[in-house]
Amino acid sequence: PVVFVDGANGFIGTTVILEALKQGYHVKAAVRRQESADAFGKKYPEHGSKIDWVFIPDFSDQEAVAAALKGVTYVMHVASPFRFDFTDNEKEVLIPARENTLSILRAAAKNPEVKRVVITSSFAAVCDLLKGMWPEKTYSEQDWNPATWNEAVRSDIPPFVYCASKGFAERAAWEYMDQEKPGFALTTFCPPMVFGPPQQPIKSMKSLNESVDQLWRLFSGTEKEVPFTNFPGFIDVRDLAHLHLASLTNDKARDKRYLVVGGHYSFDEAVVVAREAFPNQAARMTPSTGKPAPEHYKLDVSKAEADFDIKWTPFKKTIVDTAEVLFKTEALL
Ligand code: NDP
Repeated sequence: PVVFVDGANGFIGTTVILEALKQGYHVKAAVRRQESADAFGKKYPEHGSKIDWVFIPDFSDQEAVAAALKGVTYVMHVASPFRFDFTDNEKEVLIPARENTLSILRAAAKNPEVKRVVITSSFAAVCDLLKGMWPEKTYSEQDWNPATWNEAVRSDIPPFVYCASKGFAERAAWEYMDQEKPGFALTTFCPPMVFGPPQQPIKSMKSLNESVDQLWRLFSGTEKEVPFTNFPGFIDVRDLAHLHLASLTNDKARDKRYLVVGGHYSFDEAVVVAREAFPNQAARMTPSTGKPAPEHYKLDVSKAEADFDIKWTPFKKTIVDTAEVLFKTEALL
């Protein structure tokens, strides 16, 4: 069967594609620009024949999205604006996040071959940012980010806007399922910070995806002090890719939302682990403070653990593997 993956040149999209190929799927990979496909092809020439590239410069072009889903059994909607350097909250983040999701669902609904749509949502769509660390709270997939559209339009805090966008996008998806009852089932995953080896084509160390960049700023010493760990939950990108693939044929995952978390962490622990594993690089890294992680909410992943055969990658391994790829990439660029 053919799996469609958008956001194919991104951190998570690339890992999902590599896992799909490993499992024997043929992949239809969607990007916005030719150069994104070219960079992927250059990095992974061995996969050339197993990937069909499709170009969707603008997801509001319903015809282009429908054409991209031709011949596809499974759809993975991974793409969404995940950066904090925008100026127009609505145009650059809120509208594309929600409308691109709806555009994919509408196109999938017109294609009777599509059996499952998987959406990479986020813990951002689950948590209440204004409640901060909220130590007495246990989050699960039953929780929703309560931010309103108007609050998000007016906010001058980019992470608040991004988190709200993920909530609106996922909410819109479930509303669409309720109202339209299309012929496919939906599965959404809500991961917190996604770390792990970046396998996407990397042009420069300044163009890393947001979550890996947060680690790189510590490993490279760009950050003078270890910042506050705003989101102290993580998942390894390889675990997340495994879950995306496993959900396609898992009947328990039909029309389900999952909070998926490998564990808790702090940026300080990340530096301690990286320094120990890479003593040659230790001098340049942001100095650790030795302070423990702030007390914070719990994360209930019992639903994911009940429905999937998953063994979470421990933080130490995630950090060591991430740092290794980052140092190697830096040396090659
Ligand atoms: P990346 O920035 O590496 O990838 C984002 C992908 O989305 C890129 O392929 C990008 O394409 C595409 N994209 C961005 N905006 C648009 C748009 N307006 N229209 C079409 N495509 C767009 O980030 P990640 O791989 O980390 O993120 C992938 C998904 O995972 C996102 O949905 C994100 O919200 C979610 N997520 C990520 C987490 C993390 O910690 N990394 C945590 C939780 C959820 P282009 O290169 O052309 O801009």
